Amino acid sequence: MVLIKKSYKLITITFIALIVVIPITIPIFLLFNNNKFTNINIELQFDGDTAYSYVAYQININTTHYRIPGTQGREDCAQYFITKFHQIDPTISFTLHNFTIHSIGCQNVLFKINENYSNILILGAHYDSRAKATKDSTNPDLPVPGANDGASGSAVLIELARVLYEKRHNLSLQIWFLFFDAEDQGRDYDYGIFEWDWCYGSRKFVQDIDTFYNSSNESFDAMILLDMVGGNNLRFIAEQRSTSSLLNELFETGRQLGFTSAFPSDPTVSSVFDDHVAFVDYGIPSADLIIKFWNAPIEWPYHHTTGDDLSHISSTSLEITGKTVEQFIYNNYYEGTNPFQGSFPWSGDFDLLDSELFIFVIIIIPIVGIAVIVLYLHSRSNKDNK
Ligand SMILES: [Zn+2]
Repeated sequence: MVLIKKSYKLITITFIALIVVIPITIPIFLLFNNNKFTNINIELQFDGDTAYSYVAYQININTTHYRIPGTQGREDCAQYFITKFHQIDPTISFTLHNFTIHSIGCQNVLFKINENYSNILILGAHYDSRAKATKDSTNPDLPVPGANDGASGSAVLIELARVLYEKRHNLSLQIWFLFFDAEDQGRDYDYGIFEWDWCYGSRKFVQDIDTFYNSSNESFDAMILLDMVGGNNLRFIAEQRSTSSLLNELFETGRQLGFTSAFPSDPTVSSVFDDHVAFVDYGIPSADLIIKFWNAPIEWPYHHTTGDDLSHISSTSLEITGKTVEQFIYNNYYEGTNPFQGSFPWSGDFDLLDSELFIFVIIIIPIVGIAVIVLYLHSRSNKDNK
């Protein structure tokens, strides 16, 4: 009996230790995996209210079909980006990347600044809005305004272009501002748009990427994707298809700016198929700044509903995102300071266990543990009885 008690104690202690240790070590692991660096001391210029006005403008371009691929609103929105960039500088070069999906004409829009530098950072966002509000319980066939899902990331790109252009002579990199069409038309729970998949724009762009740069003397440092960055209660996830060293550096940069609820130390861990995936597959370190938009608890419940409108957009969230990216670029590329204090060239990538899977494992471990203990004791008592 003494032996049984000892083994029982040992097994119990082991399982309790596992249950306690795992949830504590993972966030610590996350924290310590960030290369230690300090944000450089520089005044950030990104303005959330200005970005908010760019969201409002996009929403009002067309209030019937918004920016659905193949509609006039989508075309007018591409034209709006050109107008905005040419307000910054009429000589900024742009490329319209045309492609066709199921006989509908689509168009990515690319702007470049600091083209004299050979190392390129891509800042991306999709600008199409979804044709059907597939998660809307009352109006699933109406189009989504896409204030957050589309317009928010695009608005942040425009405002970033304005502030980075002003500092371009001090920045030792080339920056691309890339607006994707045809990202958001796939199927939710088997109910979506006939024959359409996700992320066509980014995949087509990467297919044709050789036509947009000179591979003999230009190369890509990284790609940062902004998707749904303007909702209330902004809280980014640890997106696992992203290059973790790059995403962690963005988290650390934001946290040092005081944005600790948007960049939590214990983020939801999950994988999202988004416009960065084609770039990761091409070999460019890429990070997706995106929120948890599925299952409870949802911080922002208007995803793919008609409620994705201006009333659920926060200029604070836009500013948090914009300032974090702005600071990230200064940390790594501002002349006269020690460059690349973080994880450049962002080659490190490790994956964490998905949060939902993690919770499942945490529940399963004690159940399996108790079952093992019961079986063990049962077999021992049978032996003792013999
Ligand atoms: Zn979407």
